[in-house]
Amino acid sequence: MSQDSIGSLPIMTLTFISNVIRSAAESGWHNVDVGGLMKNETGLTTVVVNRHRARGLAECRYGGDLQYRHMIYIGVGSGIAAGLYIDRQLLSGPRGGAGEIGHTTVEPDGPLCPCGNHGCLQLLSAGPAIEQEYRKTIRQSNHTQSFTDRGIDLQLVKAQDVCAAAENGDDLAIGVVKKAADYLGIAMANLLNTFNPEAIILGGFVPNASSLFVETAMKTMRQRAMHPLSSETVVMTSRFKEIGGALGAANFALDKYISLSFF
Ligand SMILES: [Zn+2]
Repeated sequence: MSQDSIGSLPIMTLTFISNVIRSAAESGWHNVDVGGLMKNETGLTTVVVNRHRARGLAECRYGGDLQYRHMIYIGVGSGIAAGLYIDRQLLSGPRGGAGEIGHTTVEPDGPLCPCGNHGCLQLLSAGPAIEQEYRKTIRQSNHTQSFTDRGIDLQLVKAQDVCAAAENGDDLAIGVVKKAADYLGIAMANLLNTFNPEAIILGGFVPNASSLFVETAMKTMRQRAMHPLSSETVVMTSRFKEIGGALGAANFALDKYISLSFF
């Protein structure tokens, strides 16, 4: 089962062995046996996988560039998580938490995260961070009145709106998108140096809404990662949108019960 089928909660850490969500701090879920609940309701064997890691599995096996066997998928939406793929197999870790880059530190004295850490990546680079930073920037620049005059409630501005404004040349929006993307680029450089992937795929509604976000993150990654590694790593956006989660989750379930070899 993909998290797609239970909504869009930014679930942090999943245990695949028992299908228990160990911690989803933003939603207050701790040790919730989602797999057991679903099995009781449906009578079907159930597996649980984080939505971003499921989407990455689909990109890894059916995406546009199948020549890459060692890849990283990074989903940037309401939260941030990655999937790590070696020989097109998802690296889960013993508790299913491999790839929780959204809760890695990119700003030591940054804001307090619900996970208990300070300066987590997703607090500075995900969709809600872009929205909050844009509101703050608008207020500080005294542009609030122009929004009100146009009948726009600044509190309702979404990350996609900020990305669209940046694509249309809004200087304040451009600054906000670049700042968020810079933080992601730092995390990408660290991942690149650690795993030396052939490709990094960016998915989720933020990269899909902003080429500026993707280009800025890639530029920062190349500046900060070891050059011999970064120069040969391809960065691209995801091929699949929402269907990718279901496709990847089905693959994940097959992996658990049927041994398949890919390519
Ligand atoms: Zn955190």
